[in-house]
Amino acid sequence: MHKAHHYYGFDIGGTKIELACYDDELRLIRQWRTPTPTRDLGQFLDAVVELVHQADSHVGGQGLIGVGLPGIVDPVTGRHLSANVPALTNQNLAALLTERLGRSIAVGNDCQCFALSEANGGAAAGAPTMFGLILGTGMGGGYCVGQRLLRGSNGTLGDVGHVSVPAVTLERHRLPVLDCPCGLRGCIERYASGSGISAIHAHFTGQQLDAVQIVDQARDGNAEAQHSLDVHVAVLAQGIATLVLHLDPHVIVLGGGLSKLDHLYTRLPPLVATHLFAGPRPPPILRPAFGDASGTRGAAILVRQNH
Ligand SMILES: [Zn+2]
Repeated sequence: MHKAHHYYGFDIGGTKIELACYDDELRLIRQWRTPTPTRDLGQFLDAVVELVHQADSHVGGQGLIGVGLPGIVDPVTGRHLSANVPALTNQNLAALLTERLGRSIAVGNDCQCFALSEANGGAAAGAPTMFGLILGTGMGGGYCVGQRLLRGSNGTLGDVGHVSVPAVTLERHRLPVLDCPCGLRGCIERYASGSGISAIHAHFTGQQLDAVQIVDQARDGNAEAQHSLDVHVAVLAQGIATLVLHLDPHVIVLGGGLSKLDHLYTRLPPLVATHLFAGPRPPPILRPAFGDASGTRGAAILVRQNH
């Protein structure tokens, strides 16, 4: 007989830890948040355990726990490579939390959790395959087949931000090869993310503005700002065309701060098509259904599908 469960989805970021409690039908029951202790592992674990205990006493039982966080989890060792939360680097978070909480934990990448959420009852509901592409400070994604994540042998499937932009694209737009914090050079994240818009604008104008300021200036008729947005969307379109040729998703759903930019939904599809030979049609590029809630919701789905 099916036993009703509660699912706790954790979204762990560099500034806050959020826990959302969902019922068996993935309806949100309640959420809690607390600042992230980023440097001290003991404090970090205490903060997570405290939230779990609050949720347990609210539902009067023990919920199943899924965690989404930035970075990559090594599928062999379970160890975490993290930039946003240094305390977690080289730690096996699932094992540490299982030890503290006495229940099994599913841990996944935040971009993959976003994709999972949009594939299950979200913007890509019913699509046989989908790619969730997050364009925030960084760039990453996740690929779902039949509403389930494909993670690959390294667990990195969908981590498209660190594919390099082709030299021909950089030349065409007179862009420099930029260093990436990952250690590689010319990664598309450095051009196509929110911080990428800033980097493009700084390259052409010498001005340090954030993406919102550049979009506002372009709306007010500033030609330099408009040029920066044009270059950004062109580089992003090239990257999405590469994605289409590799994974051929039925639907792409955008997430992160840039998913709020209206012009992406009108300008990307025809630009993506210019990079494809005659035949493949670019997939629909859709707005997210759950926005910022996708992190916790995706983590809850992760444990719901894997317990
Ligand atoms: Zn990189």
